[in-house]
Amino acid sequence: MTTYCCSQCKLTYPSKGLPHQCPRCGGTFTLAEFSFPQVGIALSKSPGIWRYQSAFGLSENSPITYLGEGNTPLIIRNISGVRLAFKLENLNPSCSFKDRGTAVLTSILLMRGIKEVVEDSSGNAGASLAMYSAAFGIRSNIFVPAIASGPKLNQMKASGANVISVTGPRENAHQAALKYVAETGFPYASHALLPFGLAGIATICLEIYEQLEELPGTIVAPVGHGSLFWGIQLGLQALQQQRDVHQEVKMVGVQPARCAPLVALWKGLPFEGNTQPEGCTQPSLAEGTQILAPVHGEKILKSLQRGKDELVSIEEEDILPAFYSLANMGFYVEPTSALVWAAYQKFGSHWPEPIVLILTGSGLKFHPIS
Ligand SMILES: [Zn+2]
Repeated sequence: MTTYCCSQCKLTYPSKGLPHQCPRCGGTFTLAEFSFPQVGIALSKSPGIWRYQSAFGLSENSPITYLGEGNTPLIIRNISGVRLAFKLENLNPSCSFKDRGTAVLTSILLMRGIKEVVEDSSGNAGASLAMYSAAFGIRSNIFVPAIASGPKLNQMKASGANVISVTGPRENAHQAALKYVAETGFPYASHALLPFGLAGIATICLEIYEQLEELPGTIVAPVGHGSLFWGIQLGLQALQQQRDVHQEVKMVGVQPARCAPLVALWKGLPFEGNTQPEGCTQPSLAEGTQILAPVHGEKILKSLQRGKDELVSIEEEDILPAFYSLANMGFYVEPTSALVWAAYQKFGSHWPEPIVLILTGSGLKFHPIS
């Protein structure tokens, strides 16, 4: 059974309200346990991620807040003799993987009678929350850094969200959101700090297993706060335990060199951004991964195995070529997603096959430089 608890003092997530940190010790909530129904059989007549609804730890009678999330295509290509599989998370309803987590969160918001929420986001999470909130009658207030890309802001505004642009680095938007939460009392529906999205994101891994009819040799994903990467790891761990599958899967996390705190820790190097007031050295085209202090970073670092897994960084000048290279192959995804292709090209010559590349968000969310 899937349950949520404080990662420090193990307090079970309260049954009312929507605290974003543990009321007892201030810790971050996480998935205490994640279990899912068997895969590969008819699970439920529900669509998309809701086939796995019993894995979400929702209370009975929780509504299915479905807008088309999940069950995204896995496109298998043989490129230069290597079996690659592209998971098209850009084809979710708001055009990013965030919808898997947002859908689960929205169901909880409805069950708890919450009518208005606060969030901060560099773009994709805010666009996703704005859309799901609007569709299910919840008002959203989204704090975004002023550098967030226009198409993502347009998505939020089109959904009727109250969008507040905050000058300065990404962290300023986070602090402004916290201040607004304190002033208004509205819940902080943080995609990074609330644990519910992880169960939704873990379904990516269950789908990959069903679509390949085996576990992949390698899974490659960008790492910002780490919700995607950690969610996939949770899905993988649950698959290996519950299905008694012992095959090892190499996990590869990718960050832009301009903001690569986990890569620095993984390599035992100092992270220069720690001393920079703006957090990361310079803005990166991979805007979804510009996170100075990844919420799931410690768990990811502890779980990865040296000699098998990898955390790698991509230089800024390699991101746009990877973006265009993917577009040329039929995958129009944003630069944050292109990190995985750049990583494969640079480091992937010996990665175990099949190699799954998670394409996180649509290229339509980005203004290409002509
Ligand atoms: Zn606690």
